[in-house]
Amino acid sequence: MVLLGQDELREDDLQAVLERELPALVPEGTTTDSTTERAFVQMLRIGQSAFASQVLRNYGAACAFCGFTLDDGERPTLLRAGHIKPWRDSDDRERIDVANGIAACPTHDAAFDAGLMTLDPAGDHLTVSMSPRLRAAADHVPATARYFTGEGLRQKIVLTPPTVTPSTKYLRWHREHVYG
Ligand SMILES: [Zn+2]
Repeated sequence: MVLLGQDELREDDLQAVLERELPALVPEGTTTDSTTERAFVQMLRIGQSAFASQVLRNYGAACAFCGFTLDDGERPTLLRAGHIKPWRDSDDRERIDVANGIAACPTHDAAFDAGLMTLDPAGDHLTVSMSPRLRAAADHVPATARYFTGEGLRQKIVLTPPTVTPSTKYLRWHREHVYG
C-alpha cells in the first residue's frame, strides 16, 4: 500500500505529536513501549494519507493557487496536500479535516507554509494575500514574478460546491500564526 502525503510529515513533528498525545491514549499507570509508539505513528501516517487523498480530490488534483496539474493516470505528481493550520499544531480531528487542506504545487505550498502568502474568506471565494517581503521580490525580480503575479498566481480562488471550502477558523489561524 502506498501512503500519500508522507512528505508533509517531518520526523520531529511526528515525535512531538507522539509525545503530546500518546500518553492520553494508554491506560493510566502504564508506560508506552516501542510497539505502541510504532502503531501510533502508523495511525498518524494512515490518517495523513487519507487526508492527502481527500484534499487532492477536493481541488480536482490541481494547485489552488495557479492551476498546475500533472496526473500520470494513477495519482497526481508534484502536488501537495498542505494543512492550513499546520499538521504539528493541529489536534487529531484537525489533522484529517479536509476543510483544513489546500492542494498546491511545491512552490506555492512552500510559500504558504512559510507564511509568504495567506488566504482570506471573501463571500464566495478566497482572496490571496502576499507578504511584503514576497511582494517586494515579485516587484523586482522577474523570475520571482513569474510564480507570484499574473497567471502565475490567482488573486482569488473561487470554489464551488461540492468542493469543500477551507474553514474560516483554519484560515484565521494561518493569518495570525504563520503569515507575515
Ligand atoms: Zn501553484
